[in-house]
Amino acid sequence: MDNCITSNLNEVRATLPQGVALVAVSKFHPASSIETAYAAGQRLFGESHEQELAKKYEALPKDIKWHFIGHLQTNKVRYIAPYISMIEAVDSPKLLHEINKQALRNNRVIDVLLELHIAEEETKYGFPIDDCRQYLVGGEWREMSNVRIRGLMMMASNTDDARQIRREFSSALRFFEELKSTVFANVPTFDTRSWGMSHDYLLAVECGSNMVRVGTKIFGDRQY
Ligand SMILES: *Cc1c(COP(=O)(O)O)cnc(C)c1O
Repeated sequence: MDNCITSNLNEVRATLPQGVALVAVSKFHPASSIETAYAAGQRLFGESHEQELAKKYEALPKDIKWHFIGHLQTNKVRYIAPYISMIEAVDSPKLLHEINKQALRNNRVIDVLLELHIAEEETKYGFPIDDCRQYLVGGEWREMSNVRIRGLMMMASNTDDARQIRREFSSALRFFEELKSTVFANVPTFDTRSWGMSHDYLLAVECGSNMVRVGTKIFGDRQY
């Protein structure tokens, strides 16, 4: 089991070009699995449930960087605000406001990504591209001194159709580049494109991702 995690991790790493960050998605896996990956040098982990994350945060080494990758309810922000390294799936202005407020309380600046809704599934969260553009052009977010918008995050449709997945990743990339030459033209820290999971991360990297979130391919099937 331990050997598996280590070799899976090394296999994924070996396929990633330099400059692509690997978020090891450890949700629903025990702290011992994280320790194995940690021993193999992994320091960046992704979780999607506040209570599960809180337990792991307490139990595990403090030099781990935790990314919150799931849908985050505004009333949960305050629990993770003291230590979270990045909140990846900001899907509403209201959530962004709350993160700013809690970051301020903790005397921190919290890095966030805005989650786009591009996939065809209706159940996915996130800003449609037009809404995201409109919100950013509006400029209200500029007043928020304790959040730093680092880039975009999205999930492609859950399909075997590689062309469709590629189309969706490419839309996200195009929008990132648009923002980079408009709203964020003078903001070098707007630099993160988080797309790609176990089944599509190589395609994602081909389509400009520089942060992949890989769970199953490292840790095996989740124990719900
Ligand atoms: C669970 C999850 C992942 C990882 O999925 P795998 O298919 O196990 O690699 C990536 N991103 C998000 C947002 C997730 O919730």
